[in-house]
Amino acid sequence: MSLLPLHLLGSPVLRQHSVDVKTIDEEVRRLVADMFETMDAAKGVGLAANQVGVARRVAVVDADGDRFAMIDPVIVETEGRATAEEGCLSIPDIYGDVTRPERVVLEALDEEGKPYRKEATGLKARAIQHEIDHLDGILFLDHLSLLKRQMLLSRWRREHKDDAVYTKEVQAASARSG
Ligand SMILES: [Zn+2]
Repeated sequence: MSLLPLHLLGSPVLRQHSVDVKTIDEEVRRLVADMFETMDAAKGVGLAANQVGVARRVAVVDADGDRFAMIDPVIVETEGRATAEEGCLSIPDIYGDVTRPERVVLEALDEEGKPYRKEATGLKARAIQHEIDHLDGILFLDHLSLLKRQMLLSRWRREHKDDAVYTKEVQAASARSG
């Protein structure tokens, strides 16, 4: 397994609509394993494949004690509304309140190619929706009001105006504290 570089805001792959995987082979299983490792090292609750530069419909989630891969995921049911603060590994240090359905029912394939159905609420439901958004080229910033989005974007541009690349190396999980 290996840690993958994270793509940050401004990298075109984050705005790409990812393509279905359909056939789960060794390459997809390796991608899932590397994404779990990268998510853990970056201390995220989820990670989508385009955040590591791969425009395929693969994401991993680790929220509320549940850890799973979602391949070709689809949300088939939603209910209610909830607002909570979100951040994103691709937009470090930027946070905003996002309103989303409170409960979702997910259908996806696992890394063995087995279809499953999962009901989620709270943080897990939020992570599932945030990651599927990524696969559609959508970032949490897109859910904010125009004013709030422009404010956060101008802060981001100010702090990152000297960046030469759109990727960031993730440090090994051994550096984790707490
Ligand atoms: Zn994200």
